Amino acid sequence: MAEYNLRVKKILPGGVHYNFNMPWEETPIHFINTKNSRVWDMNNKEYLDLYARFGAMIVGHNNHEYNETLKECIDRVLSVSHCDLDAEVLELITKFVPSAEMIRFGLSGTEMVQNALRLARAYTHKNKFIRFENHYHGNADNIMGGKQHSVETPIPEDFLGDLKGTLGRADDIMAQQSYLIPWNDEECLEKLLKEKSSEIAAIITEPVCVNGGSVMPKEGYLSKMRQLCDQYGVLLIFDEIITGFRMGLGGAQSYFNVIPDLTILGKALGGGGVPVSALAGKKEIMELLIEKKVIHAGTFNGYTLGTFAIKATLECLSRNDGEALKTMNTYTAQLHQILRDKAKKVGMPLVVQGPLGCGAYHCCEKELTSPSDYTFDITSLDIILNAELAKQGVLMSSLSRIYPNILLNKEDVEWFDYRVEKALLETKKVY
Ligand code: PLP
Repeated sequence: MAEYNLRVKKILPGGVHYNFNMPWEETPIHFINTKNSRVWDMNNKEYLDLYARFGAMIVGHNNHEYNETLKECIDRVLSVSHCDLDAEVLELITKFVPSAEMIRFGLSGTEMVQNALRLARAYTHKNKFIRFENHYHGNADNIMGGKQHSVETPIPEDFLGDLKGTLGRADDIMAQQSYLIPWNDEECLEKLLKEKSSEIAAIITEPVCVNGGSVMPKEGYLSKMRQLCDQYGVLLIFDEIITGFRMGLGGAQSYFNVIPDLTILGKALGGGGVPVSALAGKKEIMELLIEKKVIHAGTFNGYTLGTFAIKATLECLSRNDGEALKTMNTYTAQLHQILRDKAKKVGMPLVVQGPLGCGAYHCCEKELTSPSDYTFDITSLDIILNAELAKQGVLMSSLSRIYPNILLNKEDVEWFDYRVEKALLETKKVY
């Protein structure tokens, strides 16, 4: 494995295709086989996969029904732009996602976020947007990273925050285009809108801040956001790239019963095997895409493998009144409880928080109530535990997120139970 890693690293910067590598990817693991919730590396070491390709993989590895649907696509209509499944798949999404009156497909979350912002600008004839500290909306210069800044000082000295020193980014674009404020803080949002709403086209938010530690919105916070948007003529964009389908078929918007103007879907939308994303929203906004009033382009948009993948995924998730997701949640609740119990047993501070489909653990005493609370102390211990879990055979996502899939079973829970204590004990040595 080490030799293989060196061979890859000679050509692939850092040995991985992204910069947000997992703690266990210091020496990247190359897999040779997968089944259900398990994956095997080149040494045939077996792992429980709760990393799930940054949360995308929800149907389970090597899911027979999913794979057969993809094979049908390959055999029939792989290289055309539109196919005979389009209508059915679009209708399926509108059935489950309340804000989805019209939908366009793309490949990544990043691009759909940008398209949503473009639409919001065109619709409102305003330019700026509000975003929140420690939320993540993709790999584009105008939206990635930064630290909180106030209404009084919209471009703070420490604007780059954790990304200070990152070369090649057009950082002034972020400051020109957006206001960055703390999340779960109604007062701050209201103050900003009161003063600047004439400039602001949209608020973009993760409805549960999974990227900031799986922090739930305070009661009434999202409804307040909705109300303020209506009051000030600002569009509400829910980035449901993670929460979509992981918090139920209707995503966070159904869960909280707060309906945004535009929704971005991705990751689990395509089951995990192929990249596909969607921008969904109210008809009167989405209709701006007709007749090229607002441009939306992409060579592979609506590609058939993605469409087939959505069909297979939504069928797997929705069958028998969403039985698969209920089972997934039942086993996940057991995983969460095991983590809590074992941590208590070995004397490590640990909380598990957030929705079952996209929760996270943190090595601290109390649940985080704001993404801004996700401090270095917590993060660094979380990372050590994440790496120790991998050594024991349990893979989790960065920022200690726990991503289950619908093929999770009793044996997986037992596997987890058997290995967690050792990882916690190792972590405790540095605590
Ligand atoms: N939005 C959220 C909430 C995400 O978590 C991510 C990726 O992790 C993105 C957008 C970007 O999606 P993609 O990586 O498909 O571009």
